[in-house]
Amino acid sequence: MSHAQSRGGGAVAEVAVIGAGVHGASAAFHLARRGLDVVVFEQGRPAGGPTGRSSGICRAYYTQPFLARVAHDSIAFLAQFAEHTGGADAGFVRTGGLYLHGPDDVADARRTAATLVDLGIDVETLDADEAARRFPGIDVGGGTGIGPGPDGGGAFGPGAAGRGGQVAIAVREEQAGYADPYRTTWGFVTAARAHGALVHTNARVVRIAETPGQVELTTADGITHRARRLLLAAGPWTAPLAAQLGVTLPLHAERHVVTVLGPASNPASGAGTDADANADPGVIIDVAGGYYAAPQPDGGWLLGGLDSTPPVDPDTTPAPVRDAEFAQLAEAALRRRPGRPDEVRPQPRAQSRTRAGGWSAFYDVSPDWQPVIGQITDRVWVDAGTSGHGFKLAPVLGDHVAGLLAGEQPAPGLAAFSPGRFTAGDPLTAGFGTARILG
Ligand SMILES: Cc1cc2nc3c(=O)[nH]c(=O)nc-3n(C[C@H](O)[C@H](O)[C@H](O)COP(=O)(O)OP(=O)(O)OC[C@H]3O[C@@H](n4cnc5c(N)ncnc54)[C@H](O)[C@@H]3O)c2cc1C
Repeated sequence: MSHAQSRGGGAVAEVAVIGAGVHGASAAFHLARRGLDVVVFEQGRPAGGPTGRSSGICRAYYTQPFLARVAHDSIAFLAQFAEHTGGADAGFVRTGGLYLHGPDDVADARRTAATLVDLGIDVETLDADEAARRFPGIDVGGGTGIGPGPDGGGAFGPGAAGRGGQVAIAVREEQAGYADPYRTTWGFVTAARAHGALVHTNARVVRIAETPGQVELTTADGITHRARRLLLAAGPWTAPLAAQLGVTLPLHAERHVVTVLGPASNPASGAGTDADANADPGVIIDVAGGYYAAPQPDGGWLLGGLDSTPPVDPDTTPAPVRDAEFAQLAEAALRRRPGRPDEVRPQPRAQSRTRAGGWSAFYDVSPDWQPVIGQITDRVWVDAGTSGHGFKLAPVLGDHVAGLLAGEQPAPGLAAFSPGRFTAGDPLTAGFGTARILG
């Protein structure tokens, strides 16, 4: 039964959304709470794609001011998720964040921090000595970056292997933390439904076509649904869908891994604990070292890389985490945090933590590693290409996207993310050096 049939009278939905990752779910929620008639098509389950594999790190430390503001507001949204969604819990945990940069980034990190402070975002810069004093469990010295892999190249992109690791400047953000992407997405879906949205799961859209006055979507069961406007929020599958409308989006998919390093096995001896619990840095984005680490409730760490990887076909299955990938990430993280300053390092901490899991997933990447948001035909809009840093943007970016589909005046700054920026020769900058994932 089509959406129109399910509502009776041959009605056409005002907005259809393809994809119930965190972006489609957030946009659907913001559309539905505006009173629009929304129908969502998700080929699997909400958060069943890349969103459900996200590390969920939430920080406002962005080089791009519009996204910094969106991230800052989204973190506040996640922290008050129940109030916004009528009771859902995004699992937000505020840990603080520490961003470590090498000598080449000093000027850019200072400039970024100053811009963020001007925007009202609470960050401070620390020189290396100050960072070491504040966070004594951190080794700010060199030789702590991701080393080359067995083939000499490493699995974390050309910029990662052989990074020196020396910290020249650190940036501290107290409001950073992590949230649960799965619960966040389901929270949006549940709240969207409460506002009247229809969310079809196991409903793969196989064909889209624009006709005068409406968009037609045919699902795998052969049923054709109709809507006045369409949002493509299909992650790595967005570009193939847009191609059906004759629109080329320069998005590609990349495989990225998350490994889990378990909690310290012998915390009583001190190895594996931070020198001072109050000085736990929380989330670490180690630009100098080429990886990130997100603390987990059990004391473990999620670890991932910061650099781009080769393009892949999103319709294949991502290869599981390789032993060499785990070893590179774990060693870099353990060299950076060898344990208490009075311990012989790096062995005590390294030996006290073991591999506790991990996964691999695809995400969609744009040429400048920034989101691709805007109108691509008369009746079709896109929100994709969030390039490995889009989870924490979704709560408030979804509101901006909903505004576009509702015909509202866009926020200043949103136009910079237009899909047309690449052909217009106006790409954005992102991140620091090859670590463009910082956005
Ligand atoms: C390993 C990893 C770690 C990450 N870590 C972080 C992090 O720490 N912090 C952060 O902010 N971001 C992080 N990200 C990025 C973040 O997860 C993504 O930016 C975000 O989840 C993208 O959400 P989305 O809704 O755009 O896309 P997706 O999650 O890709 O959702 C798209 C949905 O569309 C559906 N779909 C596709 N085609 C069709 C179709 N034809 N019909 C119906 N449904 C369809 C898919 O099934 C999928 O559910 C990470 C991502 C990964 C993979």
